[in-house]
Amino acid sequence: MGNNSKQWEKLEEAIVSCRQCPRLVDWRTEVALKKRRAYLDWDYWGKPVPGFGDYQARVLVVGLAPGAHGANRTGRMFTGDGSGDFLYPALHQAGFANQSQAVQRGDGLELKDMFISSVCRCVPPGNKPNSAEISNCLPYLEKEIDLLRRLRVIVALGRLAFDQTLRLYRQWTGERLRYDFAHDVKYSLGDGLPWLVASYHPSRQNTQTGRLTEEMFAMVWDEVRELLDGDPL
Ligand code: SF4
Repeated sequence: MGNNSKQWEKLEEAIVSCRQCPRLVDWRTEVALKKRRAYLDWDYWGKPVPGFGDYQARVLVVGLAPGAHGANRTGRMFTGDGSGDFLYPALHQAGFANQSQAVQRGDGLELKDMFISSVCRCVPPGNKPNSAEISNCLPYLEKEIDLLRRLRVIVALGRLAFDQTLRLYRQWTGERLRYDFAHDVKYSLGDGLPWLVASYHPSRQNTQTGRLTEEMFAMVWDEVRELLDGDPL
């Protein structure tokens, strides 16, 4: 098992200090200064958010972007907002997280066999990065995939994560890979390449309207477990 922790360190430093997208640099800073009333005593992170988890992971989870008062406040993926409050209990139940709570960095949360990342590392206005911002940021995800040497399953949370993950693999393989996004579907990305599993995003908008229920979400992690169990590696 290679020790590539230096490369991870370099990548995380590059992400956290990135200022390539002027609109998002302004927005992440503005949100961090204005704050939400409930978090006035917080010193917001207000920077790009690096991926988080197990460097030896076989499972990569890809989200959209940091939440304004979640990861943009706490500096860790899906930490401190409604999406994380739905995600981490499910991961805990499925055995990928040692606890169901994600409050802040240093709260003891550890991921096992899983790494969590996103397409865009800075919070975008209205949760909508533009295409130039996505293109600017995608090389970070590309690098993470490259460093995750044991990767077997990618779980895309939401359509944008699904489309952008496919875009990367289309570039790498030269294959058309025209797959449709739907909840709890799985696709092979090619021989010897990871599976791609699609899930609705655990945003409040989806979980509070019943579009994504706990049962539906649990099915996704069961699917991932089955794929890992069937993995000869
Ligand atoms: S969105 Fe990505 S590329 Fe753009 S400034 Fe943030 S970290 Fe850099």
